[in-house]
Amino acid sequence: MRSFARVLGTLSLAAVLSASGCIAGRVGPGVEGVVLSGPPERALRATYLGTGGWILEHGDDVVLGAPLFSNPAFLETGLLAIRADTLEIDRQMGRYDVSGAVAVLVGHAHYDHLMDVPRIVQRHAPRARIVGSETVRNTLGTWSGVADRVDLVEPHLADAETEGRWIEYGSRIRVLPLRSWHAPHFDGLTLYRGSADVPRREEPSRAGDWLDGLTVAFLVDFLDPDGSVAHRVYIQDAVTQAPWGFAPEALIAEHPVDVAILVPATFDQVDWHPEAFIENLQPRRVLLGHWEDFFIPVDRPTRSVVLADIEHFEQRLGAVFEGEVWRPEIGTVFELGR
Ligand SMILES: [Zn+2]
Repeated sequence: MRSFARVLGTLSLAAVLSASGCIAGRVGPGVEGVVLSGPPERALRATYLGTGGWILEHGDDVVLGAPLFSNPAFLETGLLAIRADTLEIDRQMGRYDVSGAVAVLVGHAHYDHLMDVPRIVQRHAPRARIVGSETVRNTLGTWSGVADRVDLVEPHLADAETEGRWIEYGSRIRVLPLRSWHAPHFDGLTLYRGSADVPRREEPSRAGDWLDGLTVAFLVDFLDPDGSVAHRVYIQDAVTQAPWGFAPEALIAEHPVDVAILVPATFDQVDWHPEAFIENLQPRRVLLGHWEDFFIPVDRPTRSVVLADIEHFEQRLGAVFEGEVWRPEIGTVFELGR
């Protein structure tokens, strides 16, 4: 069982580094339990579900980063058929009430970001729209029964110079997709690259059927009743080469990012990740996601994804960023005040 003991106060990056020792490569969790930072009134609550999975909550307003709970083993993804493990999804997602979620953000259509989404939106988040690319919609095709719930990102795309168009969910949540790019997994090689151009009629049966398509990051604004930004969250679910994945500079000048969710896993395949994103987003706080090995069951003790020197990433981040940084164990809850 995971501990939900309250961790009062906060852990700095230095504490995280010293707690995890100086061993390169396979670090364990940096922080777990409940992390409180700042005044509790109208705080943003962020719960880490593993891989790209997050629950972002501001009062009753809820947005999900698409989780993966099925976690097929490495050999299965290479050689065998894989599919969503609905029992495991229900067991894991059922620990939380996400019935009020209005959107599930899918940054690209690889299996670790999309395979579990149909079950999640059918069973656990019945109101939620799926925010993703044409490849996301075509991969969900006619077999899933949820492709008509996709809100396409393509007409809304923003980048450093282009404002883009917010996708609005009621009067208190808006989402801006940011044109991004999927970094290689290793040695310049990106697995499962391509796009799905026609709706699939059958459920994908192999990891390689889940092509990435357009990769996007997102800005999510939680708004106060007067329309001002209460919390601005940046969320990426893949490492990218800057300036791909940047937010519009004009928007950040008006309101910098309050919480940036960054991926450390394959940062060494590109240049200036994370440094360029700290400069572009000017975040107050940074959370690291998609850092752990997702080829093992969700309940196993967490360890970092193979081939990633997470400590090196954290050192580079610490050299350019003085704010709070956390690398959460699965299940960690952050209460982040303004
Ligand atoms: Zn991917």
